[in-house]
Amino acid sequence: MAEKLKSFVCGEWIEGKGSQSPLYNPTTEEILAETSSDGINFKACLEYARQNGSPALRKLTFTQRGELLDKISKILHQYREELIELSVANGGNTRGDAKFDIDGATGTLAYYSVLAKKLGERTYLVDGEQEQLGRNPRFVGQHILVPFTGVAVLINAFNFPAWGFAEKAAVAVLAGMPVVVKPATSTALLAFRMMQILVESKILPEGVLSVIFGSAGDLLGHLTCQDVLSFTGSSKTAIDLKNNKMILKNSVRCNVEADSLNAAILGPNVGRGSKTYELFLIEVAKEMTQKAGQKCTAIRRIFVPESIASDVKEDLSNEIRNVKVGNPSLREVRMGPLVSKQQLNNVMAGVERLKTCAKTIYGDGGRGQLVDVKEGRGYFISPVLFMADNPESPQIHDEEIFGPVQTVMPYTGNADDVVRFTNLGAGGLVSSIYTDDKEFAEQIIFGLAPFNGRLHVASEKIAEHSPGSGAVLPQMMHGGPGKAGGGQELGGLRGLSLYLQRTALQGSKTLLEKIIS
Ligand code: NAP
Repeated sequence: MAEKLKSFVCGEWIEGKGSQSPLYNPTTEEILAETSSDGINFKACLEYARQNGSPALRKLTFTQRGELLDKISKILHQYREELIELSVANGGNTRGDAKFDIDGATGTLAYYSVLAKKLGERTYLVDGEQEQLGRNPRFVGQHILVPFTGVAVLINAFNFPAWGFAEKAAVAVLAGMPVVVKPATSTALLAFRMMQILVESKILPEGVLSVIFGSAGDLLGHLTCQDVLSFTGSSKTAIDLKNNKMILKNSVRCNVEADSLNAAILGPNVGRGSKTYELFLIEVAKEMTQKAGQKCTAIRRIFVPESIASDVKEDLSNEIRNVKVGNPSLREVRMGPLVSKQQLNNVMAGVERLKTCAKTIYGDGGRGQLVDVKEGRGYFISPVLFMADNPESPQIHDEEIFGPVQTVMPYTGNADDVVRFTNLGAGGLVSSIYTDDKEFAEQIIFGLAPFNGRLHVASEKIAEHSPGSGAVLPQMMHGGPGKAGGGQELGGLRGLSLYLQRTALQGSKTLLEKIIS
């Protein structure tokens, strides 16, 4: 019988009732586990975290909260091999994909534990300088940032069960808020094991960590003005959440990370065979196939000068051809299946949509040659590369295809034209520019910046040092405007502000200085 994943709420593991949602191995279609959240009292879950986790964390200093993060990073790292295996089995990840998620998680927790030391032995933050507010120097103002007294509800997408948890929880816990984690159901096995490890370790004070497996039910209907919602997932779900009555009524602070049609731009004077050109090829192919393209930061749209388009077509196709697709547990396999039947159907529909405005230059939407996969089994699609003559076709820019699908668009105009085409994506997480030309880079940067959370400028000088545009580094902000959800996460200390209330204090200089130090 398949394992039943229990939720951890009100300090105990609780099994949901009723019909269960299955979790599959997307390579074999075997059912690995099942889960349900039916019958769980979400209101009590939130209340327990508010009453126990919040006061416990708020009385700790930043240094002490950082020590908790350091410990949970280390204990999860101890289980790295077991976690990798679960990620391969339930996520369809190659070992490399799995490490990207799991090491990304422990690395982010460790990064914030170090950052905590800089904040020292205080429980709140002082924001900016003291201001004299009138003629008399005795009357002053000072902003402070204090943690909300509620719960941070962290809802994650299926593609990063480990990192998705850690990048949100590290910042929330450091800010002083307990978390209720809601992993995506389809890949929840990895998150479940991580939560088991953390609960058994008893590192976090009572009530700081709760986790719900299965549907979120009426959880959001119990949020108050002291709670925070941080969501990662599709823009369709995001719209539902943003319109939740309780969230609107109580002005619950929300952060949304949603879809993004990230772009890569090859500059006009980048010669075939140059270091920058090679970097472009390697990174674009990696972004297409890593995690089978199921990455929020994956490159979907590629703009190349028309003069070099046929070289790019040939070289990129060769690069993709080198990627073996199949059973992700094999070391030689570099791309596994999509995560679910539903995902496969969505991606195949997206491929059909693109066929109406672009030609396929690699792959056709079929399974292709698979290594060590049973005939007809698993949610596989081979990479599909399109080329489109019209860089303004809405089918290319409107809907994200969350899989190994990209479109190359040759351009003839100047940087302004490229900016215009790229911004048809209507807001994104990251765009990358491959150029050694300062003037072109400058025009693209200032043209794209208002539409993107992050810009990755790749050139010969960083060819050997950069992890690529797809790696989300905790030092840098993650999130983007428009379609990307309008959110902002990470970015070092910037990330804390989601979980902190900024309060302006006005009063006597001597009194405030006695209180605020
Ligand atoms: P999804 O279907 O929107 O689900 C995301 C999460 O929301 C899951 O945990 C899901 O739970 C939960 N959920 C669904 N309906 C809900 C509701 N009414 N109330 C509360 N929670 C609800 O997205 P997905 O398929 O997991 O992820 C793929 C999408 O995420 C892609 O569109 C991708 O672009 C986006 N993404 C964005 C980022 C980013 O940082 N911008 C990162 C990764 C992924 P169940 O699984 O139980 O349904």
